[in-house]
Amino acid sequence: MANSPAATTAAAAAAAAPKRVVICGGGVIGACTAYYLSTHPITPTVPILIEKSSSPACAASGKAGGFLALDWCDSTPPLSSLARASFALHRRLADALDGASAYGFRPVHTLSVLVPSNPNPTASAAASPPILPEWVDPSASAAPPRELGTPETTAQVHPGLFTKSVLAASGAEVVLRGEVERVVVGEDGRVAGVGVKGRDGVVDADAVVLALGPWSGKFEMMREVFDVSGLKAHSIVLRPPEPEKITPHALFLSYQPEPGAKMLDPEVYPRPTGEVYICGMTKDEEVPDDPETITGEPESIAMLHKIAGRVSSQLRKEEGAEVVAEQACYLPCTDDGLPVIGEMPGVKGCYVATGHNCWGILNAPATGAALAELILDGEAKIVDLAPFSPARFLKKRKKRGV
Ligand SMILES: Cc1cc2nc3c(=O)[nH]c(=O)nc-3n(C[C@H](O)[C@H](O)[C@H](O)COP(=O)(O)OP(=O)(O)OC[C@H]3O[C@@H](n4cnc5c(N)ncnc54)[C@H](O)[C@@H]3O)c2cc1C
Repeated sequence: MANSPAATTAAAAAAAAPKRVVICGGGVIGACTAYYLSTHPITPTVPILIEKSSSPACAASGKAGGFLALDWCDSTPPLSSLARASFALHRRLADALDGASAYGFRPVHTLSVLVPSNPNPTASAAASPPILPEWVDPSASAAPPRELGTPETTAQVHPGLFTKSVLAASGAEVVLRGEVERVVVGEDGRVAGVGVKGRDGVVDADAVVLALGPWSGKFEMMREVFDVSGLKAHSIVLRPPEPEKITPHALFLSYQPEPGAKMLDPEVYPRPTGEVYICGMTKDEEVPDDPETITGEPESIAMLHKIAGRVSSQLRKEEGAEVVAEQACYLPCTDDGLPVIGEMPGVKGCYVATGHNCWGILNAPATGAALAELILDGEAKIVDLAPFSPARFLKKRKKRGV
C-alpha cells in the first residue's frame, strides 16, 4: 500500500530529526524551547536541560515583571512578528497549562502615570481621574493617566512560575548545578555534545541549544561572534495590608525625584497572588559569574520603596506593607537591540537563543517554538528567524575589519 505524501514527509522529518537535544540554561528561553521540542506534532523530543544554579528561573526569568503586550514592539518589525506570535502562544499556553492558577496569567489594564516630585497633600479622591484605580493615591498622579493597553492587548504572568510550569510540562530531564563550559564539535563540523565543569566526559548531543541569557557574553563560542552585555535592574515585591483592594492595573510611571534630577521610569505590576511587584533603577555593570550571588544596591532598593509609597498607601512599609523580596538581575542586551536566535555559523547542530533584553518573558514562547521547528523540521515557520540570525554579526565584524 502506498503512503500519502503527508505521511512520507512526516516519516522523513522523523528520520532526520535529532534524537538527543541538550539545552544549556534554565531561564524562560531554555524552558520554552524544551516545551516546544517535547510537544512537536511529528517528532516530539524530550530534551536534557542543564542549568548552572540550584534552580530554574534563578535569574531575570524569576525576577522579571512578567508583563506581556501584543503590539508594543510594532515599531521594530522583526520584533513585532516575534511579539505578536508570542502573545498568541501565551494565551494558548495558559489554556493548555491552566496558566491562571498555575502561574498567574491574566489580562490587565495598563496606564501611564506621571508621579509628581512633591505630592499635593490636598489632592482628594473626589477630584481623582476616573481612570485611576482606587488603590492608587489621588496625590500620585500629576496629570490624568493615559491608557497604554487594555485587557485585549496587555496581560501578565508570574515569570518564575511560568518558567517552572512550562519546563515541568516539557518533561525535560533537568540537571541542576551543571555549568556548561564548552560545546564539543566533531571532525565533521557537527555538534557532538557539551562539556560540563567538574564532570568527566561529554554529555552527548545531536543538537545543542545555548540559552544563557546575559551569561552568553562570557561563553567563548558566542563571544567570538557577537557581544551580549548585562544591564542590572532592581525590583521589590510587597504584600499590601489589603490585597483584595488591588485591581489588575499595570502602571508605567514617570517620576523625577527632584527638579533637575534624571527622570525615572519604574513599573508597577499587581499580581493575582495579592503581591505587588515594582521594578526599575538600571545600571550598566559586569554580570557576576554566579547568578545566585546577585544582590540589589541599597540606594536603588530604597528609591523603589520611596516610589511605591508615593503611588499608594497600600505599598508603604510604615502602613503595613510587608516586604516579600528586594532583588536585582540582568537584562541580556545585544549591540543592535534584537535577540540572537538561530544556528551558530560554522557549527552544524549548535543553536543559540539570547539577547531578549526587556521582552524575554513575552517573546520566549515564539522563540522556543521557532527553535523547535528549526531543530526538528530544518525550518522555522512560526516566525522568520532571518533577522535574528547570529550570522548577521559576522557581516558587521567583517565590515569593521574585526
Ligand atoms: C527587572 C526586570 C524586569 C523585566 N520585566 C519583564 C517583563 O515584564 N516582560 C518581559 O517580557 N520581560 C521582562 N524582563 C526581561 C526578561 O526577564 C529577560 O529577557 C528574560 O528573563 C531572559 O531570559 P533568558 O532565559 O534568556 O535568561 P536568564 O533568565 O538570565 O537565564 C539564563 C540561565 O542560564 C544559566 N546559565 C548561565 N551560564 C550557564 C552555563 N554556563 N551553563 C548552564 N547554565 C548557565 C543561568 O544560571 C540562568 O538560569 C525583565 C527583566 C528584568 C531584569
